[in-house]
Amino acid sequence: MRTPYIAGNWKMNLTPSEGARYAGELAEAVRKAGVSCRVMIAPSFVALPAVAEAVKGSGITVAAQNMANHLSGAYTGEVSPEMLKDIGINTVILGHSERRQYYGETDEIINSKVLLALSLKMEVILCVGETLEEREAGNLESVLERQLRVGLKDVLPAEMGAITIAYEPVWAIGTGKTATPDDADAAHAFIRRTVAAMYSEDIANNLIIQYGGSVKPGNVVALMAKENIDGALVGGASLKLDDFLPIITYSK
Ligand code: PEP
Repeated sequence: MRTPYIAGNWKMNLTPSEGARYAGELAEAVRKAGVSCRVMIAPSFVALPAVAEAVKGSGITVAAQNMANHLSGAYTGEVSPEMLKDIGINTVILGHSERRQYYGETDEIINSKVLLALSLKMEVILCVGETLEEREAGNLESVLERQLRVGLKDVLPAEMGAITIAYEPVWAIGTGKTATPDDADAAHAFIRRTVAAMYSEDIANNLIIQYGGSVKPGNVVALMAKENIDGALVGGASLKLDDFLPIITYSK
């Protein structure tokens, strides 16, 4: 039985005070609505303490959008996972396509972050997904397989409980284009088969796989109805209560 897991990636939006205000409203709404899925929000680094304070006791997880692949040292501008842990942040999104595309993060760099996060007992959402070019060239499965095999290299079977995979086709992120529920489900099924081959059927069956790419109140029900879709990683529609609340209460 996989508990649905819906996460909001705020990206570089909302100042600490805006974020804390919104997070407080979200926590209140979640208390009233009594959501049945796990809910996570990922504000910017500087907003993490205020947002964590605002959602205290609500059951909402607060996560970082990224972290360094070193514990400390001469890495100007970076934030280490130890610093995140020190302020009570135990979950991190890694390998988002914007990190891959704009900041040159390779599968190997992402893998080093995954291993470091796991060594500190953090939970990881590992993002994978193909570009439109890769999909049109028929390379969907080979791209996903590489991202999984390299991204999860040296991750032990016992550590897989701390891993969530987010399937985010790059062409669907922030574009308003969503993969059809059937297309998304087929990609998720491929991810599950790959993880079964890398680890075991049991680990694959317990793996939470989120879909990300223009998830909205209007498409969340159809996506979540699919067998292999266990949650969502939501960008734009996670920034406002009017959009995010209907998403996290999709089953009501
Ligand atoms: C994302 O940033 O992970 C994302 C899926 O964005 P959007 O929902 O805006 O497409």
